[in-house]
Amino acid sequence: MITIVGAGPAGSYLAYLLAKQGKDITLIEEHDKIGSPVQCTGIVTGSIEKFVKLPSNIIANRCNKVVVVSKNKRIVAETGEIVMWRNKFDEFIANMAADAGAKILTNHQFIGFNNTNSIKTKNKNNNETKNIDSEIVVGADGPSSAVAKAANLNLNSKFYIGMQAKVKLKSDLDAFETHFGESFPDFFGWVVPESEDVARLGLGAFNNAKEHFYKFLESKTGSKEILCWESGIIPLYDPKKIIQKDNVFLIGDAATQVKATTGGGIIPSLKAATTLCDCIINNKDYNKEFKKQSGRELLLHLKIRNILDKFSDKDYDRLLKLMNQEKVKNILKKYDRDTPIPLVLNLLLREPRFLLFSKFVL
Ligand SMILES: Cc1cc2nc3c(=O)[nH]c(=O)nc-3n(C[C@H](O)[C@H](O)[C@H](O)COP(=O)(O)OP(=O)(O)OC[C@H]3O[C@@H](n4cnc5c(N)ncnc54)[C@H](O)[C@@H]3O)c2cc1C
Repeated sequence: MITIVGAGPAGSYLAYLLAKQGKDITLIEEHDKIGSPVQCTGIVTGSIEKFVKLPSNIIANRCNKVVVVSKNKRIVAETGEIVMWRNKFDEFIANMAADAGAKILTNHQFIGFNNTNSIKTKNKNNNETKNIDSEIVVGADGPSSAVAKAANLNLNSKFYIGMQAKVKLKSDLDAFETHFGESFPDFFGWVVPESEDVARLGLGAFNNAKEHFYKFLESKTGSKEILCWESGIIPLYDPKKIIQKDNVFLIGDAATQVKATTGGGIIPSLKAATTLCDCIINNKDYNKEFKKQSGRELLLHLKIRNILDKFSDKDYDRLLKLMNQEKVKNILKKYDRDTPIPLVLNLLLREPRFLLFSKFVL
């Protein structure tokens, strides 16, 4: 039997894939309702449909334009983004897992290992402790993974604070915004419309996230009013992280499988689930196989993040000037951030001046 801890996208999609292969799967989730609370913007590229076909009730909005803003520049590029209702997406994937035969226990929290073949859970309905026998345990329990901690696999991870709220803001439904520069140290800011008068506004930061958030919010809306918080932490990809030890595996945010440029972890976690399913079914080394399948892409995102971290306002202005050329925009339209290797190679081929930023590599 295989126990998967956490019914987010990583855990539920893996449960679905393994159950489809005839494995005996128990998926445990500490919350009463799968998908709640939401701690995510829910924006993904069309690449998500390589994994799942999204029913229309999951899609809040589609943005065909991205507005990229730096201190003195503002450019608009074509894109193809899907803004999801993240709670409905999580429910949808969990239902796929249940339909494939996985047993789902909500209100069940992983609290530790009894031994290598048994875990301890707390049933939050009655506070009783329940043991579950498992040949394999998968920690898909998010950035603060209790499974990683209990298995001593949570060394040295770094996290951004992702401050996000739904706010009242009239905006062009077809366009989402990203904001870069010294007012957004460490990461960037975003405004993603979910309806004509409500947007998901947020930013990431290592420190003083709340302060930066309110400044950004006031600059966009002229007020400090929020409708509801959807904040959380975002792990920085750690290429050295051990993601399998004996019969314990980590996936998704628990394994820091997130694009360091954007903080996007939904598509990487679905891709990692296909890799982990293959490793479990065919007895392959997941530490190695994950590196082969996704390691180079996530490493490229991390290297770009390291370069962006050194940018001043002036550097971002220069970057946007280069990006504002038709030949560059065409490449940005053709390759999305979930295919970063061809994206970067084509950008460098068509506009070698991007190489000027390689001075920040050292
Ligand atoms: C503010 C913010 C905005 C984001 N925006 C985007 C975005 O637009 N696009 C994108 O791709 N990514 C985004 N991300 C990242 C994305 O949310 C994560 O990468 C993604 O949710 C990872 O999925 P997961 O299944 O690994 O973890 P999670 O979605 O965190 O799921 C983990 C599950 O495990 C459960 N759990 C935790 N501990 C236990 C336990 N002890 N026992 C049982 N269950 C447990 C939790 O309740 C949860 O349901 C954002 C993150 C933040 C914080």
